[in-house]
Amino acid sequence: MSEIKHTELSMNRLAGKFALVTGASRGIGRAIALRLAREGADVAITYAQNREMAETVAAEIQTLGRRCLCRQMNVAQRDSVRTMVTAIRERWNRLDILVNNAGILQLKPFAELTDVDWDDMLAVNLKSVFLCSQETLPLFKNQGGGTIINISSVGGQTGGTMSPHYAAAKAGVISLTKSTAKIMAPWGVTVNAIAPGYIRTDMYDTITSTTESEADIERKVPLGKAGEAPDVAAAAAFLASSDARYITGQVINVNGGVFV
Ligand code: NAP
Repeated sequence: MSEIKHTELSMNRLAGKFALVTGASRGIGRAIALRLAREGADVAITYAQNREMAETVAAEIQTLGRRCLCRQMNVAQRDSVRTMVTAIRERWNRLDILVNNAGILQLKPFAELTDVDWDDMLAVNLKSVFLCSQETLPLFKNQGGGTIINISSVGGQTGGTMSPHYAAAKAGVISLTKSTAKIMAPWGVTVNAIAPGYIRTDMYDTITSTTESEADIERKVPLGKAGEAPDVAAAAAFLASSDARYITGQVINVNGGVFV
C-alpha cells in the first residue's frame, strides 16, 4: 500500500543515471532499487544467497523499462566486489549512484559474542562499505562525479545492548561516510548516510521474534509504528538526485522520531 503511494509521488529525477544497490533481493535494498528504477535509473543489483528473489526484483526493474544487471556478490570480499564492478564497467562503463545497503544483524548477549561473530558483523556491515566505495571510485573519477549512499542504522547512533557489534559497525559506517565525503569531494562525489529506525523487513522480523515485541516498538516510536522499506527508499532517491547536489557527509534519519 505505502509502496503504491510512493510510486504515485515519484518523479523522473534519475533519467540516464546508472546505479548499483547491494543486497537488493529483499527488504530496504529491493525498495531502493525499485524506487531508483521508477525515477529513471538503470540499476545493477546484488544478492548473497537469494537468487530467485533477486531475479524477481530484476524482472520488476525491467518491467519498468529500465536495464538491470543482477549478480551474486559477497560484499565482504574484495574479489567478489571487483568482479561486480568489472561487470558494470564492461556493460555500462558508468556508475552514478552506489547504495551500500547489504547488511546483517545478530542479536546476542555481549558476554557470548565470539571473535567470529564480531569479525563477520564488521566485515559485512562496515568493511563492505570500504570495499565497494574504493572499488567504484575509479568509475566515479573517470566521469567526474557521482553519489554514494551508505545505509547505517539508528543503532549506530544510540548503541544496542543485544547487538553491540552491529551498532559498532553502523557507527563506523557514519564515520566512514564523513571521511569519504571529504576524501571524494575533489572528484565531485557526494557521500551521505541514511540511518533507518525500525523498518518492516526480514531483519525487523528477527527483532520482533526475539528481543522486542511489535507493541514495544509502537510504544518506543513517536510516530507510533514501524516504517516501511519505501520510506527509506524515498530518502535514498532524494539523496541520489541533483536536488541533493550540495549535501555531503550527512546522515538522514528515517526513524519515526525514535532518535530525535
Ligand atoms: P534484510 O531484509 O535482511 O536484507 C538484507 C540484504 O542484504 C539481502 O539482500 C541479503 O541478500 C543481503 N546480504 C546479506 N549479507 C550479504 C553479504 N555478505 N553480501 C552481499 N549481500 C548480503 O535487511 P534489511 O532490513 O532490508 O536491511 C537493509 C539495510 O538496512 C542493512 O544494512 C541493515 O543493517 C539496515 N537497517 C535495517 C533496519 C530495519 O529495521 N530493517 C534498521 C536499520 C538499518 P540475500 O537475500 O541473498 O541473503
